[in-house]
Amino acid sequence: PRSGFCESNSIFYSKRKPTAHPPNPYLDVTTFISSRAHHGKVAFVDASTGRHLTFADLWRAVDSVTTFLSDTGVRKGHIILILSPNSIFVPVVCLAAMSLGAVITTANPLNTAREIAKQIADSKPVLAFTTRQLVPKLSESSNLLRIVLLDEQSKPVVENPRIVATLEEILKKQPSGNRRVRDRVNQDDTATLLYSSGTTGASKGVETSHKSFIALAQIFIGRFGLDEGEHRFICVVPMFHIYGLAYALALPASGTTAVILSKYDMHDMLSAIEKYRITNISIVPPILVALVNGADELRSRYDLSSLRTISCGGAPLSKEVIENVVERYPTVTILQAYGLTESTAVGASTNSLEESRRYGTVGLLSPNMEVKIVEPKTGEALSVNRTGEIWLRGPPIMKGYFGNAEATALTLDPEGWLKTGDLCYIDDDGFIFVVDRLKELIKYKGYQVPPAELEGLLLTHPEISDCAVIPFPDKEVGQYPMAYVVRKARSNLSESAVMDFVAGQVAPYKRIRRVAFIASIPKNQSGKILRKDLVQLATSKL
Ligand code: AMP
Repeated sequence: PRSGFCESNSIFYSKRKPTAHPPNPYLDVTTFISSRAHHGKVAFVDASTGRHLTFADLWRAVDSVTTFLSDTGVRKGHIILILSPNSIFVPVVCLAAMSLGAVITTANPLNTAREIAKQIADSKPVLAFTTRQLVPKLSESSNLLRIVLLDEQSKPVVENPRIVATLEEILKKQPSGNRRVRDRVNQDDTATLLYSSGTTGASKGVETSHKSFIALAQIFIGRFGLDEGEHRFICVVPMFHIYGLAYALALPASGTTAVILSKYDMHDMLSAIEKYRITNISIVPPILVALVNGADELRSRYDLSSLRTISCGGAPLSKEVIENVVERYPTVTILQAYGLTESTAVGASTNSLEESRRYGTVGLLSPNMEVKIVEPKTGEALSVNRTGEIWLRGPPIMKGYFGNAEATALTLDPEGWLKTGDLCYIDDDGFIFVVDRLKELIKYKGYQVPPAELEGLLLTHPEISDCAVIPFPDKEVGQYPMAYVVRKARSNLSESAVMDFVAGQVAPYKRIRRVAFIASIPKNQSGKILRKDLVQLATSKL
């Protein structure tokens, strides 16, 4: 790896201190993380119950779950689904499965049973870890899928033959490390399959290797692991997304305590900051907007004096919001981070107050990463201060899309560059600025909404002959899905009927919240929807 921001053959190299990647090819991420002893310290705290796991408890629990998985017949390459709100046991299950070379896939608990069934049909998990409340969401999936209940204090369940165990039962049993059947795990083996729509089309399984997670863990060790005991984090972003999962897996590597909230709630989050004297939180822009809007009341109700940094990522953050936060929370540093599911959440970040003062930047390129800025039409690699598509290369980049060579070839070039679909420029000092999103993806409160999925659904309506779904900008949620619809002849379909049709079939965050009727959808010669034209049309009156 090179160090020092420089450009060579149109490639920009990271200015951050490089990390040395462990050379042993036979290394799984669990072994890498557990080799860093932090015994005695607390790894995870459940914010609602106060239950905590020290690092010793964590590794004992990982051992028990590994024994269970192995005894159940889980082997290298088998897929395990986690359908759960955030919990201190999500990282336990992940680390156990990964130690055997099994692959973790996740689903958003807000998704409908139909949406989850589609994902399960694609990834074919052999086992699902979920909560009692979410079991019905697996009702439309294959009957062969066995279930383990993650809830604490779940009593053994007899009424559903698919439920084979509860986590409490598993944790009570003694691990039997020696008897386990283990396949050798290679750094290049797949560790997770998280779903992302990438630059185009429907959601696809992103194959992320052990190597990528080890690289991510090393970045966390470099940032938080040096001054041990200093940082206390809150994990509030969902662990089914790479953003939350990255923290859940990489914070333990750095010996940092993470307080886990099952899901985002402003008051629960601020109570936990006060109670646990939290120093760092990682959130998405809509939460920051809510922190600004309620600043006076929130600051008077909660003691937030321990809080030193707020990291914000997952979607663009406006300069206006940053300025407002700086004014209202003067003792807190706002840091930005840019990354994708396809880059294991790694890309760029601001790491200090000084760096954060360059308002609008997502920061310096992460250690060991390389960047090209490419003119989208000509493919020409651009120099500093010129805007083009940002391509990323480095150990955290995905292996490809699961079972989808075509989508993989469109996104990863033969030299290993990830075409992100984001328009960016890099300034003279190596700071990256995200200008716009070239790809179709809509981000509602940080959640991915793939337009192609909603378009596919709309086209099943008997009175719709064509449609296009685009992002409509919104200060609070970032963007929401808007549909342009071409009605069939003699149809009187109303806007609300279109919205209701979709709302009945998708998770709440994917709902279409604005509809306009149009005579025809603008398309280029090859039939591609001219989305930017529609966005311009929709927003021209704003
Ligand atoms: P996901 O795979 O869900 O993490 O989505 C990745 C996409 O989110 C990126 O390609 C960007 O379009 C967007 N994104 C992530 N972080 C940022 C950020 N800090 N600023 C602007 N856009 C971001």
